Amino acid sequence: MTEIHDAVVVGGGIIAAAAAQHLTAAGYRTLLAERGDYGSGTSSRTSRLQHCGLSYFSPAGNSIAAFILNPRFGLSCMELTRRAMRGRAEFVKSSPERVRPLTFVVPLTPDNAIPVWKARLAFKMMEIFDAGRVPLDLRVLSASQARAYPGLQGLADLGRIRGAITFTEHQFIWPERIVIDTIMKARDQGLEALNYSPVTGVSRDGEGWRVTMQTPGGPCEVRTRAVVNCAGVWVDEITAMTGANTVKLNSGAKGTNIAVRLPERFRGIGFDTVTSTGMAFYLIPWGDLHYIGPWDTPATGTRENFRASGDEIDAILNEMSLLFPEIGLTRKDVLYSWAGARPRTAREGQILGSMEVMEHDLTHQGMPNFFVFTGGLLMTHRDAGRRLAAAVARRLKPSGAPQPIDYSVRLVPDGDRVSETSVMHVVQNEQARSLAGILRRRLPVGWEADLGLPQAGEAARIAAPLLGWSPAETATEIERFRKNTILNFNPAIPA
Ligand SMILES: Cc1cc2nc3c(=O)[nH]c(=O)nc-3n(C[C@H](O)[C@H](O)[C@H](O)COP(=O)(O)OP(=O)(O)OC[C@H]3O[C@@H](n4cnc5c(N)ncnc54)[C@H](O)[C@@H]3O)c2cc1C
Repeated sequence: MTEIHDAVVVGGGIIAAAAAQHLTAAGYRTLLAERGDYGSGTSSRTSRLQHCGLSYFSPAGNSIAAFILNPRFGLSCMELTRRAMRGRAEFVKSSPERVRPLTFVVPLTPDNAIPVWKARLAFKMMEIFDAGRVPLDLRVLSASQARAYPGLQGLADLGRIRGAITFTEHQFIWPERIVIDTIMKARDQGLEALNYSPVTGVSRDGEGWRVTMQTPGGPCEVRTRAVVNCAGVWVDEITAMTGANTVKLNSGAKGTNIAVRLPERFRGIGFDTVTSTGMAFYLIPWGDLHYIGPWDTPATGTRENFRASGDEIDAILNEMSLLFPEIGLTRKDVLYSWAGARPRTAREGQILGSMEVMEHDLTHQGMPNFFVFTGGLLMTHRDAGRRLAAAVARRLKPSGAPQPIDYSVRLVPDGDRVSETSVMHVVQNEQARSLAGILRRRLPVGWEADLGLPQAGEAARIAAPLLGWSPAETATEIERFRKNTILNFNPAIPA
């Protein structure tokens, strides 16, 4: 055990990355420890939406009465929407290389009964929240325009449609890379970041904490003034390591998506609606494919919650057949699928957790300078990082001087493909240690219909001498990548 850190951040997903970046920039001597690779948890299983926040208006039943009857809930929906719009404006302006605009359509059906004036009001409010002026491009279509709109052809009950709205949503092209960008930028400013280093113990140490990790080089203990627990759906496991008897803060929700090829008329058009049980449901363009979901069920951090089950795939197909009966999608049309356990803030009586996104300072529960983040989202990760850094600052002064934060993306030379230059760069400069880490998280390979399987051999050939893999270890790593791809994505391609 050596020096004392100001903060140890537990986890290496998007929230830990943002927390570590903001703490480091604020002058805190920070160490981040991730048990697997950075961005390999829930942050790699998302629907990739830099969502404008429109769906926060629907939990209240789209009714003004619901907002008036429960003003606290109404205000929290507004606050989530405000943060979504601010996060969208900030990210789209500062990191345009990592997002793309998409047109989304929302049908106005007799069943969802959204009046046009309410839709206009919601968009007006969102525009007011938009500090950076990234346009929403709201268009209201009449019933006859909606009936002629390509993305609505084949919609159940199209004849009864009252109209539609279209607007601009943004898609994170590559969330895993945003995690890597954020951690690497923070490393440039002095963050010490360890991947493949699970935290195995947290205990009190005088005024601060002692954190034990199992690093690739062996067990390691560090002392720190603060612990910032950003372990996603696993936050309660980390807090329990202290032996403290605190309340459960996380209640996860498993989300599942499927990838399919829809008829040509849908190309490039997104679709935003709700399931038959009232949950958000999207058809999201992905090149010439679409991914469809999410289907949500209660979750923990077990491996089963990071794989789509047959029942969940069928549930999505069933929703699709209710929406677009003529398309007739079956399991044979599913090119691949994925699932993840989204962290949610625990609330009694809410089985899928609440939508609240919040930092918790456990100082008053006998755990001084121990912070936990719950419900963190990709789309508002910078806000999460700022709030955690501010929570730490309310308790502790940084030991170093602040530096300006750098949100620009980190480009990999020749980084849009597998090549000697790109693979060498990510191994030597970005702590890549596995084929999945090289292909899916640091290079944009592995989310197309072939799931990156054809590129695995070439990437392994280049990485082997850099990572000291023998020919037998190289073959094992290629086989591991293939098996994990089949296990986690249920591909319909010959593998
Ligand atoms: C299907 C689905 C769709 C989604 N769609 C969207 C979307 O469109 N837009 C959006 O903004 N959000 C979306 N989300 C939510 C979003 O993905 C998550 O909320 C976000 O990625 C959570 O990030 P995180 O850093 O909290 O968790 P994670 O990314 O899971 O990071 C936590 C990390 O902690 C690590 N860890 C656990 N235990 C230890 C330990 N003992 N030691 C060290 N490290 C440890 C884990 O390995 C993990 O990497 C979606 C989620 C799902 C499941």
